[in-house]
Amino acid sequence: CGIVGIVGQKNTTEILLKGLERLEYRGYDSAGIYVNNQSGKDYLVKTVGKIAALEAEVAPEVQGTIGIAHTRWATHGQPSVANAHPQFSTSKRFYVVHNGVINNYRALQDQYLPETTFVSQTDTEVIVQMIANFVEEEQLDTAAAFQKTLKLLDGSYALLLIDTQQPDTIFVGKNKSPLLIGCGAGFNLVTSDALATFDQTDQYLELRDQEMAQVQATSVVIKNLNGEIQSRARTTIKVDD
Ligand code: GLU
Repeated sequence: CGIVGIVGQKNTTEILLKGLERLEYRGYDSAGIYVNNQSGKDYLVKTVGKIAALEAEVAPEVQGTIGIAHTRWATHGQPSVANAHPQFSTSKRFYVVHNGVINNYRALQDQYLPETTFVSQTDTEVIVQMIANFVEEEQLDTAAAFQKTLKLLDGSYALLLIDTQQPDTIFVGKNKSPLLIGCGAGFNLVTSDALATFDQTDQYLELRDQEMAQVQATSVVIKNLNGEIQSRARTTIKVDD
């Protein structure tokens, strides 16, 4: 399973699909992408099976400048289009991709989302519905809702979030699942494996467990889960093609 996200490049869809192809070796049962053109249009495409099947479903108009992509290895809920990621909130304002397992998702669902109708059987949907709930019901801003949600999660996650009302930012969380932030000229990306994005950059920031980041085209801000800014030096990661 694996994750790729990118903001600030024109050929977002191509970079995401190429990245997923390079992560195929890790194993997966389904895949999906979410792309937003930052001027009001967005696209969600998900399929069961091979990346080639996903590519066949992606129409030429699926283009944008920010996007997230995922290969899923099902842990909660069978392989299906509904259970494939990106998962989204009922409002379709928030989209997430997640690798890992949330141990306490049922307890969180009972406590915070007793009224919410779920469209998947995944543990992941609880994450995106909680963020939406904290924004839409408790009027937190998205960064605060993201931080609050991460603090409540018990489990492993490499997690990317896009808020369609703020489509210049990828919100990133990490705990016990691999995740790197890649730095380019006028763009930044996030990946679970530098192999997926080696043709975009060899400059990476290594996110640590229990950290989160806000990634924009020309800035990356890393914080701990108490909101304190964390400095990080770039590392060069070279991958042989
Ligand atoms: N636990 C999540 C699910 O079953 C993510 C699985 C993965 O790491 O791909 O949907």
